Amino acid sequence: MTGAIQPDAWVIVAGGSGFIGSHLCEALLARGYRVLDIDDHSTGRMSNVDHLRATGRFELVECDVTAADLAQRVAAVVGDHPVAAVAHLASAASPPAYLARPLETLAVGSVGTERLISIALGHDARFLLASTSEVYGDPLEHPQRETYWGNVNPIGERSVYDEAKRFAEALTTAHERASGLDARIARIFNTYGPRMQPDDGRVVTNFVHQARRGEAMTVYGDGSQTRSFCFVSDEVEGLIALLHSDVRGPVNIGNPMEFTMIELATAVGEVLGVEPRLDHRPLPMDDPRVRRPDITRARELLGWEPQVALLDGLRMMVDSLDAD
Ligand code: UDP
Repeated sequence: MTGAIQPDAWVIVAGGSGFIGSHLCEALLARGYRVLDIDDHSTGRMSNVDHLRATGRFELVECDVTAADLAQRVAAVVGDHPVAAVAHLASAASPPAYLARPLETLAVGSVGTERLISIALGHDARFLLASTSEVYGDPLEHPQRETYWGNVNPIGERSVYDEAKRFAEALTTAHERASGLDARIARIFNTYGPRMQPDDGRVVTNFVHQARRGEAMTVYGDGSQTRSFCFVSDEVEGLIALLHSDVRGPVNIGNPMEFTMIELATAVGEVLGVEPRLDHRPLPMDDPRVRRPDITRARELLGWEPQVALLDGLRMMVDSLDAD
């Protein structure tokens, strides 16, 4: 699918009703694809995609990607039409969501990835794996380049997500070698924006909703840990650029501007016009100390880099909540 878009081709988006998934579906529809969303709505929401039905080119299969009959259910919708790509964004992704579903998260990354790869192979379609900065764990290299192997505790609480994604990368790469799979791997860093679930437990959602309610923002630990936040429209443009490229191997897709959680709280206070009040809580187990992508590969090979600064992105997120 490099170059010209095949009009009428399907792109299957597993996890299309989720936060990033729904924005990806929207962007693919805008580029002329038909989109089939596979989602079991365990963390994704119908309301994220309801508005896409009006396009007439959006279909939904409500199904867990580990289901044995997944391929048949997909075939029943796509019929004989070409499938350009299968994008795997299905998984609980916020720490509280995956910690509440440890076994399901491991299954989605392993069994679910295998099922989606076999659908891609069966339809001669490209496979896009949504991997994560969590493959780097609590990184000993900073910023993180794709060549870094990571520092993950294999039996820590977070391992259900980290190791599932690492396994998914291993499986995808093994299929590239053994089955000729045409694969792309995106390592997605912290992303924020409209449609994040208010109770997903991530830091941006917590801070924004707490500050809007006039509450103190819950800072875990001393708040000196860092993250690099990418606005969702930038993230999706990066995913689409990767999907349309010839770039093999993992590519970091994230915003390299790095903030401490205290700085994030200050930014949220500024956007909402409130004095930030902080409520310090214990640091979760194995919480990475720092995180920032090196995006040289994405810049040079995809010609992509984020456009939206943190304050602007937070304003857009707050505006979308005000509009609800
Ligand atoms: N965090 C925080 N307050 C919150 C939620 C999270 O200080 O209410 C911290 C968390 O400990 C981590 C960072 O914010 O250091 C990012 O957490 P998040 O859950 O958003 O994603 P992660 O990058 O850990 O997957």
